[in-house]
Amino acid sequence: MAVDEKKKALLNWLDENAADFFRMADQIWENPEISWEEVFASGLQADYLESEGFSITRNPAGMRTAFIAEWGTGKPVLAFIGEYDALPGLSQVNEPVKKAVVEGGPGHGCGHHILGVASVAAAAATRKWLEANNISGTVRYYGTPAEEMGGGKVFMAREGLFSDLDAALTYHPSFINMPSKASTVAVVSSSFRFNGKSSHAGGAPHLGRSALDAVELMNVGANYLREHVLDGTRIHYVITNGGQAANIVPETAEVDYILRAEKLDYLLDVADRLRNIAKGAALMTDTTFEETIKSGYASMVSNHAIADLMYQALEEIGPIQYTNDELAFAQQINDTFEATNSGYIEQRIDTLKLGKQAADTLRAHSDKPLLSANFQAIDEGIVYKGATDVGDLSQVVPTGALETVCFPTCSPGHSWVNTACGGMSIGHKGLVHAAKALALTAAVLYTDKKTLEKVREEFEEQMDGKTYTPLIPEEMCPPQ
Ligand SMILES: [Zn+2]
Repeated sequence: MAVDEKKKALLNWLDENAADFFRMADQIWENPEISWEEVFASGLQADYLESEGFSITRNPAGMRTAFIAEWGTGKPVLAFIGEYDALPGLSQVNEPVKKAVVEGGPGHGCGHHILGVASVAAAAATRKWLEANNISGTVRYYGTPAEEMGGGKVFMAREGLFSDLDAALTYHPSFINMPSKASTVAVVSSSFRFNGKSSHAGGAPHLGRSALDAVELMNVGANYLREHVLDGTRIHYVITNGGQAANIVPETAEVDYILRAEKLDYLLDVADRLRNIAKGAALMTDTTFEETIKSGYASMVSNHAIADLMYQALEEIGPIQYTNDELAFAQQINDTFEATNSGYIEQRIDTLKLGKQAADTLRAHSDKPLLSANFQAIDEGIVYKGATDVGDLSQVVPTGALETVCFPTCSPGHSWVNTACGGMSIGHKGLVHAAKALALTAAVLYTDKKTLEKVREEFEEQMDGKTYTPLIPEEMCPPQ
């Protein structure tokens, strides 16, 4: 598919400025900051966008490492979404062998340094393009902290900071160039603390009210609940305080629960039923309890119309071209693990539960350690078991999700492999590929009213009149 002249300028600008974005990503990679501590990364990106003419809102929703950059006026309002948090313990040099820069230190094992900068690049390119072509509309970049642990987007969604968006374009580094039509589970993590009365377990048990009994009865109730929930629902618990000595009736006891479900509204329902079980356990044992919700991510509602536009954009750009050195680098990493190149593809087919057509499409590219081709979404109808705060965004605004190749086919997700490849040219190529596809997708949404309407209609249909309820309580604040 030929790219028209107008769009070519968008792609050219990204090629001409690519070195700046690679440098920005490298700087963030060299200074990995874990969730809520991304002072350097958020500052670097905000300063850059400010220098490019964006107005910056700092500390939105009370988060010191969040910011919103905005340029332009009026409708449509489109957003690129960035993350920049690293993972603890995944420090790694940019070489194809496992070796930490700082033993036990953090590292970009999920590629969020590329994620954020690709979206910054797309925002800057789109802004230039709108101006050059005199197209009206507003472009935003949301710098969202703590995707890995806490979920900055959840707090932003709760504050209504996404509410006036017409669409949001998200991106994540991956082993494949593909828009996603998958969903992710909703998850909530909470702690139940029961309070009873301590007494001598032998001498005066009749005076005691055991908080541990309440915890145990709650767990029994939860285990019976398991049978009467939809497939795909998960209930995990661990007792974090069961008392101190067997001869003391425990005055306090605590249990942590994590609930997962495929849909947000269903998760809210299961959470209510679990709360009733806690009430029942307290009633049975003459104790009281309080629940503290620690975090909660909504399920992902992916917009297929945007995914189709993203695929069109990928096709306009063409495949990623790798050098022999890059292929050798990736091959050396693939060889570190037990499977062959085609073995890794078979594992992907298996985990994604792909149908024959999608599986054969992937198999056709299984000889190399890096998938250079672009793929149509092959994950439609799939619910990934991992949760992300992109879910909360997707509950309030039509959200597209793109992936590009930054890691070899063996990549086991959060790992040293991702840190290594994200710190060299394989990551850079995935970054610019993503920025181009995101910007081209936005260009269509800014100029094609009908497509934007289709995107909105699909969203309305998916939400079916439901409004977003955040899983975190109103009084919960992001950590400072
Ligand atoms: Zn990630």
